[in-house]
Amino acid sequence: MFDKLVVKLISPEIRLVKSFEGNFFDHETDTLHFDRHEGEGLGWFLRNLETAHECQFVDDIDPLMWTLLHEIGHFETAEIVDPEEDLANRALFAITSKEQARGDKELQDLYFSMDSEWQATEWAIDWVANHHKLAVALSWVLSK
Ligand SMILES: [Zn+2]
Repeated sequence: MFDKLVVKLISPEIRLVKSFEGNFFDHETDTLHFDRHEGEGLGWFLRNLETAHECQFVDDIDPLMWTLLHEIGHFETAEIVDPEEDLANRALFAITSKEQARGDKELQDLYFSMDSEWQATEWAIDWVANHHKLAVALSWVLSK
């Protein structure tokens, strides 16, 4: 219920809407679609935070808060992501996930290693590192 307030505090330019079809950021309208019931491959995402990103704050923050921060990260890092390269990466990922019999784990690793996903995750980690007390407090508010 405090979802909008939390986002306003972190990135006032972003509009948050409730979603029932997963979490994603719409760059056309600067709208964060937030689905409380489905993390963006949340378990894998958290594992990715711990392993690939060597993030030591994973357990300090509620998974919902990590999801929200990652989506905000898509907004905050949009300027350093090449949109054409990102489109190509996503198309390649879609083809790879259809054509090759890869395990979920491998596919999720591939997904979160795409440049735009990697950047969004890095942004979330940096934000938590730089605002640790606030992050913990907002995480608590968000989880209520
Ligand atoms: Zn993402």
